[in-house]
Amino acid sequence: MVSFKELGLVNTREMFAKAIKGGYAIPAFNFNNMEQLQAIIQAAAELRSPVILQVSKGARNYANQTLLRYMAQGAVEYAKELGWENPQIVLHLDHGDSFELCKSCVDFGFSSVMIDASSLPYEDNIALTKQVVDYAHKYDVTVEAELGVLAGVEEEVASEVSHYTKPEEVVDFATRTGCDSLAISIGTSHGAYKFKPEQCTRDPKTGRLVPPPLAFDVLKGVEEQLPGFPIVLHGSSSVPQEYVDMINKYGGKMPDAVGIPEEQLRLASKSAVCKINIDSDSRLAMTAAVRKDLYENPGHFDPRQYLKPARDEMKKMYIHKIVEVLGSDGKA
Ligand SMILES: [Zn+2]
Repeated sequence: MVSFKELGLVNTREMFAKAIKGGYAIPAFNFNNMEQLQAIIQAAAELRSPVILQVSKGARNYANQTLLRYMAQGAVEYAKELGWENPQIVLHLDHGDSFELCKSCVDFGFSSVMIDASSLPYEDNIALTKQVVDYAHKYDVTVEAELGVLAGVEEEVASEVSHYTKPEEVVDFATRTGCDSLAISIGTSHGAYKFKPEQCTRDPKTGRLVPPPLAFDVLKGVEEQLPGFPIVLHGSSSVPQEYVDMINKYGGKMPDAVGIPEEQLRLASKSAVCKINIDSDSRLAMTAAVRKDLYENPGHFDPRQYLKPARDEMKKMYIHKIVEVLGSDGKA
């Protein structure tokens, strides 16, 4: 048993309370490799932004859960070396799908876990979530739950259609489970193709897809039912078209990749939404930079030659999100 506190990590409780009060949101960035983690920590440390490092099932399969945990521990020490005296870093399990997995993360030093039982019937979702909460709270680890179903694919979590969260269920759910935060479905979705072209309109000037707006009425309904309760948005990459263009220009093929407009995320950050999950945008930044470097420098064969610009591009993207979208800079 390792407590997250020994590793210098923090849970989400105080962080979320401050974010709701202050009208900003905490960035939750997924990581599965060193360059990505360096970029996240450099951005957060320079901007003094609290940050949530997320480990998904795909990341665990790709990089190994034990290695990722030690990387997060290293990230705390790295942040201190960068001059961030009291780093506010959460290590979070993204989309935990069983009690056993959540328990193993709690026991191994994670400071926050998500139990995603949103695909189960309502009562089963409550029972499994409560089981995780009861265990995690013994060790002061905070728990994110999910109500409603997101469309799209995030590695192993896939659903054809989204079902918006029902505001009339959230009080019962939060009370009976004791969860610390709640991921809701208001039209965000996982991946780099969040909407099918037939769900969008097309900007006549640019020919780009314009996605349908998020269901802010559902968010408002949830906030009215649960005033001051921390709300989480998954699948909130904006799929910057500059990266899609770069990828396509340098040999890639990503037609009609589309995300959530940053304007809408900016609006959500000012509400009870206090955690915004961003994964695809970092993948796009990295891929765009790697493609460009290799295209322009056919002789490059040392991975550091093309991963350095990739790391720089990710860092630039993280800084942009923190400062221009979430507003969490200077809050830690
Ligand atoms: Zn997710």
